[in-house]
Amino acid sequence: MMNTQNSIQWAATILHEGIHAELYKFVDQVHNREVNPNDRKKLFDLYKNYKGLKSMSSRAQHNYMTDKYVIPIAKAIRELDNNKYPLEYYMGFGWEGLKANAHPSLLTNDEFNEYLRLKSIVIDNTNFNPNDCN
Ligand SMILES: [Zn+2]
Repeated sequence: MMNTQNSIQWAATILHEGIHAELYKFVDQVHNREVNPNDRKKLFDLYKNYKGLKSMSSRAQHNYMTDKYVIPIAKAIRELDNNKYPLEYYMGFGWEGLKANAHPSLLTNDEFNEYLRLKSIVIDNTNFNPNDCN
């Protein structure tokens, strides 16, 4: 049973993993010719960069997520937190799992550390409780 304080952290982790699932599904659907790879052209360019659909796919996905999902994740977590703080407080949630492979020009260590500091303020003060979900 997760406690309330950590549940917003869990929400961010589940979002991140859910996006992986969605991207894997998309790749499968492309293989089955159910969707057009050009709908997510950049994702496939990244896969090609990493030489093949199987190898390094999580790295390609992480680069894609860094490009497309950091801010949407931050916004989603902010909403779960009733928009308590400005968006930058939630950017650490968006960057989680993505910083390590990101080019340093996208996010410096100092910027990341500041995001982590702000994120810990969110975690310490959130009233988010998944038991309130209907
Ligand atoms: Zn990941």
